[in-house]
Amino acid sequence: MLIGVTWKDSINEIEGKRKIIRVSEDVPQVGVLAFGLVDRGTNIIEVRPTTLCPLSCIYCSVNAGPRSTNRWAEFIDDPGALLSALEEVIRFKDVNDVEVHIDGMGEPGVYPHLVELVRGIKAISGVSRVSIQTRLYMLNDDSLRELAQAGLDRINLSVDSLNPELAKRISGVPWYDVNRVKDLVTHALELGINVIISPVWLPGINDDDMVSIIKWAREAGLGKNELPPVLIQKYIPHKRGRRVKVRVMTWQEFWGKIRELENKLGVKLSATNDGLNIHRAPKLPIPYDVDDEVKVRIISRGIIKGEFLGVILPLRNSVIYDRVITVIAEPNMEKILIGKQVKVRIIENNNNIYIGRLI
Ligand code: SF4
Repeated sequence: MLIGVTWKDSINEIEGKRKIIRVSEDVPQVGVLAFGLVDRGTNIIEVRPTTLCPLSCIYCSVNAGPRSTNRWAEFIDDPGALLSALEEVIRFKDVNDVEVHIDGMGEPGVYPHLVELVRGIKAISGVSRVSIQTRLYMLNDDSLRELAQAGLDRINLSVDSLNPELAKRISGVPWYDVNRVKDLVTHALELGINVIISPVWLPGINDDDMVSIIKWAREAGLGKNELPPVLIQKYIPHKRGRRVKVRVMTWQEFWGKIRELENKLGVKLSATNDGLNIHRAPKLPIPYDVDDEVKVRIISRGIIKGEFLGVILPLRNSVIYDRVITVIAEPNMEKILIGKQVKVRIIENNNNIYIGRLI
């Protein structure tokens, strides 16, 4: 398989293989994981601007990047649609300490409207913090400065090794350079953006790297404002994600090892919801239940082959109630389905993320 020599080559490669769908302003912003908003009933709202990712991490839980084996479309959301939806949801929540976290089924660092998005989010009344989950590699000194000026408060950095060769191997692309990422971290800190690292621990692959990451993070001054500099993630294989052949730790074993590292290195490596200022806040209503039959207008492919994106009708022109839905159907029905109204039975609903099947 051809993998490019820069991250832009990797994006071009994806664009040559899959349908790139620009989500238009009239599409509801709640209902799928690929784009829009995800509300889990707290003061954290996830904003998902794009599914594009130039990397192909060996453990990627969402099977993103040029090496994806199951995607047939990628999404780029409209910044205006995201911002007006967010404003309405924050007004509905009626709290004044919302953290907006930019993440998703891709790498937000490649979203072409990232600065505009951060600036717009920061201007919404009720937002106290804007954070982003990113590999950072795709940004540069200028874009970091623009993001700092736009109001970005924190970067949650995904880095799994400081060893350039291993980091490259885990990222799945030959152009990834962890030393460039370290330089960008230094620059982000100088600009006043806080950084914490969230490496994925792959037992037998990057065990020693956890120690070197923690030591570097502490020396570099990461994790200000009571936050730990590093929050290690346990590797969990996902049904449709890429899997790594490693022994998967139990939660008990994982937390035992985290405590060992905390004692050995004298660094706090865990945080409570209080410490992260996460608390319950009004949750968006759930307008549809599992087993409901709904009328849906199919508007495009969904992200995974055999999935389509639909809008549940009738629309009420309100983010609070309007939903998109992922509809499962045979891929060869694409020509018949897109643009049509169909009946769908909802088979799954998790935090307003809907999946349905044609009736
Ligand atoms: S883990 Fe993140 S950075 Fe890596 S391929 Fe998946 S989406 Fe991209």
